[in-house]
Amino acid sequence: MGISGQFCQYNKSIGLPERRIILFSQFDDGTFTHHRRIEATIIPHETTASTEDVIIVGAGVGGLTLALGLLRNGQSVQIFESAATLEEVGAGISVPPNALKLLWRLGLKEKLATLVCLPEQGEIRVGETGEVIATSKFGDALVKRYGAPYAQMHRADLQLALVEAVLAIDPDCLNLNSTVESCENTPNGASAVVRGQGAVRNVTGRALVACDGIRSAIRQQLFAADEPRFTRHVAWRCIIPREKVPAEFWSPKSLISIGHRRQLAVYPISNGEALNCVAIDGDTDWRQESWSQLGDVNELQALFSHFDERCRAILAAVPASGCYKWAIYDRDPLDSWCEGNIALLGDAAHPMTPYLGQGAAIAIEDAFVLARALSYADSVSEAFDDYQSQRIERANWTLLESRAAGQRFQEPDAESSRFDNDQAMQMDRMFSYEPE
Ligand SMILES: Cc1cc2nc3c(=O)[nH]c(=O)nc-3n(C[C@H](O)[C@H](O)[C@H](O)COP(=O)(O)OP(=O)(O)OC[C@H]3O[C@@H](n4cnc5c(N)ncnc54)[C@H](O)[C@@H]3O)c2cc1C
Repeated sequence: MGISGQFCQYNKSIGLPERRIILFSQFDDGTFTHHRRIEATIIPHETTASTEDVIIVGAGVGGLTLALGLLRNGQSVQIFESAATLEEVGAGISVPPNALKLLWRLGLKEKLATLVCLPEQGEIRVGETGEVIATSKFGDALVKRYGAPYAQMHRADLQLALVEAVLAIDPDCLNLNSTVESCENTPNGASAVVRGQGAVRNVTGRALVACDGIRSAIRQQLFAADEPRFTRHVAWRCIIPREKVPAEFWSPKSLISIGHRRQLAVYPISNGEALNCVAIDGDTDWRQESWSQLGDVNELQALFSHFDERCRAILAAVPASGCYKWAIYDRDPLDSWCEGNIALLGDAAHPMTPYLGQGAAIAIEDAFVLARALSYADSVSEAFDDYQSQRIERANWTLLESRAAGQRFQEPDAESSRFDNDQAMQMDRMFSYEPE
């Protein structure tokens, strides 16, 4: 297989027992299972954040981007992540221009250039017949208008690029196997109780940012006791090696086929060596939310058996070992994300459905803005005010637009799926974002 694994090793003695973090992306079985892991071999050590640090809870896209932004501005951080290894199962991710240009500004332009696919065109088709009902020009047209193209890539490649960039600045700031159980404001910052690496410890910092995802314990503890809202939608996520896709059905475009309560999005990733596939079943009571839950490929194929020949051929090529299921949830918008020296970011603040492909992108925007504010404001409270006033309206708007897009898809017809003026304006608003 043409994609080479990446391997780099940080091996640093810090006076306490030696700590090693090994990053690599691997292929499980020599075929192309796309289950890559970033593994940490951490010999327990006594990391305590210092009072100058920003404590970051969670090492997803949001937490890592925030860490990178802060470290590049000369700030210090400690990231606490519950997982013992950072893993991304087989799934692609769209990185729209609004997010890509911020990642570029964080120094990742060269690195990402080797990892992304840049589709020239997006198309929406009728699932059953393949009739094209809407097209949008990506590529240079978007670069001209928004300053960056629309990119699509493997999620693990994005996460690995972020982790490498963070650890290149501070090899000691990532604490895996470290769950933040609770946190509170202190007179000069915030403190957290962290369990893991064989101990329970207290850490303190000048601020704490909860980037702990849709099930955020900190959101629950400090901001809202609401529960995630099940949409009755499930995403089936698969990656298919290029050679398994019949040549006549391979396309460099980003394609979405829409039918009654079914949607199939496919796009190339990994330098065109594989096809990412997200198939949505919009009418189910299956509620599990896990990146590693395997689905039955026969069931997936049956759900789309009334779709056109191209869709059926693509789904027929899905490897049984690489077909994952993820129930889709969101939450209602909050009107505040900050409480004293503690703030929410990314899915912890505004988890949204994936219908506009903007969840991680909005987390990247949050992180970029907050990193700048915490680096240059005179106090944490000024930084948080700035962050919230720049971000909350846009993030909540995107959350509600994503929800509405999911509802439209419940009863689609060719007319409602045409790319009309409203959708063009919505896309323009999403892609044209520039932090103040
Ligand atoms: C099917 C699907 C497709 C999607 N496609 C796209 C797309 O194409 N483009 C896009 O922009 N977005 C997409 N999204 C949305 C995107 O995946 C999320 O918005 C994004 O991953 C959120 O990042 P985050 O860092 O906020 O949270 P997460 O990625 O959820 O990271 C949270 C981290 O916090 C850790 N954690 C949790 N609790 C604790 C704790 N108590 N202590 C320590 N660590 C903790 C978790 O282990 C995890 O690593 C999609 C989502 C789905 C479901």
